[in-house]
Amino acid sequence: MPIYEYRCQDCGTRFEILQRLGQGADGVSCPSCGEERIEKQFSTFASSTADSGRREAVPAAGCGPACRCVH
Ligand SMILES: [Zn+2]
Repeated sequence: MPIYEYRCQDCGTRFEILQRLGQGADGVSCPSCGEERIEKQFSTFASSTADSGRREAVPAAGCGPACRCVH
């Protein structure tokens, strides 16, 4: 059985539910506040993409052409 991740729209709590394939979110409620306004998450596949690992190294302040430190 696949595990689905949900997020409560009311309090923001994220939780996982073991659910049969094709079964809806009917009757599923937030374990934290009991609210049934929840939305399905797909975070298992969605992950950090675009701007990870593309940060350029910024030289420390003060280190420039006039700097005489031994970098
Ligand atoms: Zn909640």
